[in-house]
Amino acid sequence: MSSIDDGIDEGLNEGLSAKEKQRYHRQLIMSEIGEAGQLMLKGGKVLVVGTGGLGSPVLYYLTAAGIGTIGFTDYDSVDLSNLQRQVLHRTPDLGKPKAVSAFEKLSALNPEIRLVPAGERVDRENAGHLISGYDVVVDCTDNFPARYILNEACIKSGKPFVHGGILGFFGQAMTIVPGKGPCFQCVFREPPPPEAMPHPPGVLGAVAGTIGTIQAAEVIKLLTGRGRLLTGRLLMYDALEVSFREVEVKPDSDCQVCGKN
Ligand SMILES: [Zn+2]
Repeated sequence: MSSIDDGIDEGLNEGLSAKEKQRYHRQLIMSEIGEAGQLMLKGGKVLVVGTGGLGSPVLYYLTAAGIGTIGFTDYDSVDLSNLQRQVLHRTPDLGKPKAVSAFEKLSALNPEIRLVPAGERVDRENAGHLISGYDVVVDCTDNFPARYILNEACIKSGKPFVHGGILGFFGQAMTIVPGKGPCFQCVFREPPPPEAMPHPPGVLGAVAGTIGTIQAAEVIKLLTGRGRLLTGRLLMYDALEVSFREVEVKPDSDCQVCGKN
């Protein structure tokens, strides 16, 4: 699959049209965003890896907010068991490639931006190429190998990486900014042993929604330079207790990805 509208690249930073000013009005009137912030979002290029439980809310909100270029990749097709949490996809989409299904919903939501769907699975060979050309990478994967590969590729190329993870009624989020705090591997040295993980893991759709919207807000803060990021802070959410807990996390000098040793 290739990009959709090559013409949109022109004039990305030439200001906002009357239609865009109306579309983003409720964002523009906030002093933290304003027209300058909206232009930063319009100039932003974000890659979302995965269009499932986390990718759905991340992509909906970034698309609605007017991020100028949004890439997304998913190698899977829509299955009936996805629909309980992957709200980008609908019953008539069963069997359809998720990247196509996602593109249809997102382009209907906001035709003003450039959407770049891809059907690739992340691996060591293609990770560097996949993330090239983007300013920020969002972790909406459902597997540990892809997450470690993306973390490493982002550290190598100096790109921020917004992590999100969900399991059952629990979720977590952390923003990795190379050179400013720990990377994913500093905090999680190795993936949990396969026998420690249920197959498939259960997950509440609403928890994916909560963590995904936190990730989307982190991307908007990264692009506009506003607020305090989840850098060096692992946010943990427990939907059963309705509690948010924050743990300070530090760079590991022995980290195989970003460590000095
Ligand atoms: Zn590290």
